[in-house]
Amino acid sequence: MRVAIAGAGLAGLSCAKYLTDAGHTPVVLESRDVVGGLVAAWQDADGDWYETGLHVFFGAYPNILQLFKELGIEDRLQWKQHTMIFNQPEKPGTYSRFDFPDLPAPLNGIVAILRNNDMLSWSEKIQLAKGLVPAMLRGQQYVENTDKYTFSEWLKHQGVSEEVQQDIFIAASKSLNFINPDEISAVVLLTALRAFLQEKNGSKMAFLDGSPTERLCSPLVDYITARGGEVRSNAPLKEILTNGDGTVRGFLIRGLNGAEDEVLTADAYVSAIPVDPLKVMLPKAWQQMEFFQKLEGLEGVPVINLQLWFDRKLTEIDQLLFSRSSLLSVYADMSNTCRGYANPDQSMLELVLAPAKDWITKSDEEILQVTLSELKKLFPMHFGENPAKLLKYHVVKTPRSVYKAVPGCQQCRPSQKTPIANFYLAGSYTMQRFLGSMEGAVLSGKLTAQAIAEAHPAANSSSLQMPTVQPATNAATA
Ligand SMILES: Cc1cc2nc3c(=O)[nH]c(=O)nc-3n(C[C@H](O)[C@H](O)[C@H](O)COP(=O)(O)OP(=O)(O)OC[C@H]3O[C@@H](n4cnc5c(N)ncnc54)[C@H](O)[C@@H]3O)c2cc1C
Repeated sequence: MRVAIAGAGLAGLSCAKYLTDAGHTPVVLESRDVVGGLVAAWQDADGDWYETGLHVFFGAYPNILQLFKELGIEDRLQWKQHTMIFNQPEKPGTYSRFDFPDLPAPLNGIVAILRNNDMLSWSEKIQLAKGLVPAMLRGQQYVENTDKYTFSEWLKHQGVSEEVQQDIFIAASKSLNFINPDEISAVVLLTALRAFLQEKNGSKMAFLDGSPTERLCSPLVDYITARGGEVRSNAPLKEILTNGDGTVRGFLIRGLNGAEDEVLTADAYVSAIPVDPLKVMLPKAWQQMEFFQKLEGLEGVPVINLQLWFDRKLTEIDQLLFSRSSLLSVYADMSNTCRGYANPDQSMLELVLAPAKDWITKSDEEILQVTLSELKKLFPMHFGENPAKLLKYHVVKTPRSVYKAVPGCQQCRPSQKTPIANFYLAGSYTMQRFLGSMEGAVLSGKLTAQAIAEAHPAANSSSLQMPTVQPATNAATA
């Protein structure tokens, strides 16, 4: 069976991959000249890669880890020491660590927290533990029900002080959804905390050994095309064409550079484009349906990624760092963390600027200058006398990235199956339990492939394995 998929981010590519496994033939349409969506990367004139975002993989990502295994590229994940490292703004240039010992969960997490005395006093540790107990013991249903609160409201409700929020959770909230705890839904932080505390290696991090485009998306495209599928770049979906009964008749592809528009017909259709363009492309006949109206409650959040090349080494730390700066979120010296970008003499910092709503319209030069002023606080020893010299930089702005996970969003996230018989959704914004992440994107694509394969078993599917998926959970179904 032929399946047309619009969008070649991780969700669209994962959907196509699992459809080929189920004996179907996917045709993936990507509007840009590069696949990968939010993990896309480009090479500059020197051959250096610059990326849409600094990406880390977690031990708590079962579906993406399984995908790496299935593609035979597990060795491309560079696992780091099990630790979380935070800058200490009150002592510029120093770090505070949460080191996870080799013990079963949740003991390793508890010991990591108990051993850290820089960021949490004993009374704060007790406060925090008491606050988190219900989320740990009462399960994901309890967590889903906290979607009515921001994380700040939930912490307050649990009697956790403002200081604990300042110390740890601003950094965590920005790293998970590029917004602060006074905006983010409590569901996001509590879901992540549960995964990190329940699984021994849940919070263990890995970096890819090069650009996601080359090291992850290319093998996915090769896998799909080797099994009869197609991935077409520069092929933007312009319109979803419908029949009289509201089902999809075809995908209209915009002709570029003077070429004619083209209609692609298939047996089933998938939107794996972000929720923002999908909302403006909904056929008239669907706009009154509650399922699609709920999408109005979802919107991409702005974020900015910077890569800065310096003439010297600024740090030897081989791990993600939580800046605890009001401007920046997480960052890493990719010359240490990533084999493909390794340099023993010079640093290449990759930094995420968030929340980015006040910066997204500013010029690259303004964004660079404000970031450099922050680096003076993070690396005072390299920006005093004889300061480190910036060799070059790239700024990538994403005005609408992952869905902004504010309270009330969970009930707006759609299932992969829609009320339209031959139309499905994939994307990290769709309902699955890994929120707006690479794992969420891969899992959503897998769930979509599974729904299609169940509705239309391929003639030769008896010999093929259906993908094993983590069940989607949402407030309605959990
Ligand atoms: C700065 C940053 C850092 C991040 N860090 C992490 C991290 O450390 N760990 C983590 O797990 N996740 C991280 N994420 C989130 C993760 O990248 C996303 O959740 C995931 O990649 C989303 O994949 P997707 O396929 O759902 O959507 P997208 O990647 O948005 O894919 C959608 C695709 O549709 C295409 N498209 C749009 N319109 C059309 C059209 N009309 N026709 C055809 N194609 C179209 C787009 O070009 C794109 O390729 C980060 C994201 C950003 C931006």
